[in-house]
Amino acid sequence: MTGKKEETTHDLKELDEFRFEVESSGLGTLELISGEAEIFGTELVQNKVYTFPAGSKAAVFTFKGCTIKLVGSFEVAYMAGQTPMLTYMNVHAALEQLRNQAADKNSRGPRVLITGPKDVGKSTLSRILVNYAVRVERIPIFVDLDVGQGEISVPGSMGGLIVQRPHNIEDDYPQAIPLIYHFGHKSPNDNIVLYNKLVSALAETINQRCQSNTTANVSGCIINTCGWIKGGGYKSLVHIAGAFEVDIVIVIDQERLFTELKRDMPDFVKIIQLQKSGGVVERSRESRLNSRDTSIRNYFYGKKGEFSPHCFYIDFADVQIYQIGAPELPDSLLPIGMVMQQGETKLMPLVPSEALKHHVLSVSACESDEMEENIITTPVQGFIVITEVDMERSRFMILSPAPSPLPRTILLDTEITFMDVK
Ligand code: ATP
Ligand code: MN
Repeated sequence: MTGKKEETTHDLKELDEFRFEVESSGLGTLELISGEAEIFGTELVQNKVYTFPAGSKAAVFTFKGCTIKLVGSFEVAYMAGQTPMLTYMNVHAALEQLRNQAADKNSRGPRVLITGPKDVGKSTLSRILVNYAVRVERIPIFVDLDVGQGEISVPGSMGGLIVQRPHNIEDDYPQAIPLIYHFGHKSPNDNIVLYNKLVSALAETINQRCQSNTTANVSGCIINTCGWIKGGGYKSLVHIAGAFEVDIVIVIDQERLFTELKRDMPDFVKIIQLQKSGGVVERSRESRLNSRDTSIRNYFYGKKGEFSPHCFYIDFADVQIYQIGAPELPDSLLPIGMVMQQGETKLMPLVPSEALKHHVLSVSACESDEMEENIITTPVQGFIVITEVDMERSRFMILSPAPSPLPRTILLDTEITFMDVK
């Protein structure tokens, strides 16, 4: 049905899951005509037309049956033979029991780490569990440690946020202000020392917030991770589990990872293995690149172009730009007997140059007179893009969500680039 704007209506029986994928160059809309239904845990409103951009993949699930209407160009649209949604419901029910126990004892609710290889539905399960929790009046903390495709913020960062409302189906970005840390790369592997350090800093800050927010504390955390689970990736999973003191690890689709975690986690950590949903679609390298780009665009412009970012000049002299992590020196360049100090978390001042053009930079919340150590583990206030470097006049043109002047002057460079073309 390439290119054609077809309209189809589908009747779902109770506990049916209906999957669809919008064509890579097209749009699709979905409307709930009657009954009740949800997408990844967010309830649909009857007669509201939801728009899905090119390449979107999603599934409608219904407890009681419903009728839906699809309009647009869909690559596929089919009724699933099997759905894992009941299993997910059971996981949610088990978490609710733990939350009730925590509320009775005024202690901490369940902290759940979601892991597994690439493309198995980790982010989707995280979303479903967060939404289910919010729907029963919890305010869980969603932590996204996927620095490549995180959902809370732009690529190159990690963060957490207290979720008060179900995820908005058409909107990527959270309404509440998240807690975000600058990492600067697309994969934890690019600087694992820094990655682990940030995980610890984030966990500590979340613990502090939980102390002053009983409901969030009782609701617990859902922690999403990226699909890097071998070697250093595995070690960092173990680190994450320790830093957040997780109670439950959900492993999707990997016996080996499940066994390794069973071996290496303390006994009180419950490890659960879940099957991958048949609906999860593998994404190509290109589609990951696109989704990173879209995520940055949405940060500045909004998914529907509802934000108006600002463009203005900043003088080189008015900002300090750093990169975190010193390039490694080969041993042969070091004086004999000298051991390289740990360079991964070193703050390196950057001299303004053309090389910064198109780079995404984090605006650190740090005041300028703070110590080096603080800058690395201080959350960021937001992000800007350097759109022009004017060496002659010693100034940058930047794209910023807020008008001039910048709220802070310490900027952290990332290897993420963004071309601001409409
Ligand atoms: P990554 O390793 O890249 O982080 P992941 O394990 O987090 O991937 P998801 O992002 O959750 O995987 O899922 C991959 C894709 O499959 C997403 O586009 C998601 O919308 C889609 N998807 C997940 N579950 C379903 C389903 N039941 N029906 C249709 N599409 C689905
Ligand atoms: Mn994911």
